[in-house]
Amino acid sequence: MNVLGLEGTAWNLSAALVDEDDVVVEENAIYVPARGGIHPREAAQHHAEHMLPVVKAVLDMAEDEDLSIDGVAFSQGPGLGPCLRTVATAARALSLRYGVPLMGVNHCVAHIEVGKWKTGARDPVILYVSGGNSQVLALRRGRYRIFGETLDISVGNALDKFARRAGLPHPGGPKIEEMAREADEYVPLPYVVKGMDFSFTGLSTAAAEALRKHDLTDVCSSLQETAFAMLVEVTERAMAHAEKNEVLLAGGVGANRRLQEMLDIMCDERGARFYVPERRFMGDNGSMIAYTGLLMQKSGVEISLAESKVRPGYRTDEVEVVWV
Ligand code: AMP
Ligand code: MG
Repeated sequence: MNVLGLEGTAWNLSAALVDEDDVVVEENAIYVPARGGIHPREAAQHHAEHMLPVVKAVLDMAEDEDLSIDGVAFSQGPGLGPCLRTVATAARALSLRYGVPLMGVNHCVAHIEVGKWKTGARDPVILYVSGGNSQVLALRRGRYRIFGETLDISVGNALDKFARRAGLPHPGGPKIEEMAREADEYVPLPYVVKGMDFSFTGLSTAAAEALRKHDLTDVCSSLQETAFAMLVEVTERAMAHAEKNEVLLAGGVGANRRLQEMLDIMCDERGARFYVPERRFMGDNGSMIAYTGLLMQKSGVEISLAESKVRPGYRTDEVEVVWV
């Protein structure tokens, strides 16, 4: 069975074809804002302009290899409204054109499923950290329950905002990681964990203000140490509550080596296993949507055109995970 998947919730327009075993082909078109952060309407325009070549590359490959298209999946939410609508329109057209089922995929669930698929993690606590979301989750009674999440902006957004104020290019995460390696002093910054939730706005602002008195490299490193310690604390507590002994890292911020190292140490101390997917499956990608669509289709979870309206605020725990 082959499923075509479309991702385009924010910066990456991505189409992929997967079968049960692997990714057959994936094609990407990346939106880079001219200045500042992601502008939803500009990003949607970017996706509309690149939709045809991106999808065509995947379909041409399928045709060359004589592969059938058995289903079409798209990220229905959460994400930026204009971007979601552009992708949903293309997905509806493709499902009609091939006369195959349409699957509306929750973007966060897709990050989790592709991570499990690619690492072999079975029943992990998931730390999902990206440009739009920051959540600690675990599967319980048929849903990925949110044990903790950000009370304001995501950790990726906090890094990107700080980077912008520090004059670093977008996306800020990778640049901050690079600068942090040169640090030699720790700058105390606000550490905000409330119960199982965390907050990053104050931290991002305080870090930007600290630039007046401290070295950029020191602030970058201290921002990482503080933000990541908050995430690791909540992840560890979720493991204890949910009685799980695996951690899966998901989302673009998961590419950060220091975050990986901190989680690795925590897991080691608990005798737990730590799973990190290959870099290409951490940030937004079409393969994760196609693969989750395939799981859904095999379980009979498809939607009608009438049900295919986009869901910008789609919560991870709204999804009934019937395929596990
Ligand atoms: P996503 O939304 O999952 O595609 O992830 C995008 C976010 O990941 C952006 O906020 C980036 O700044 C962040 N990011 C990417 N690479 C790194 C890195 N090496 N360290 C920290 N953040 C990163
Ligand atoms: Mg994402």
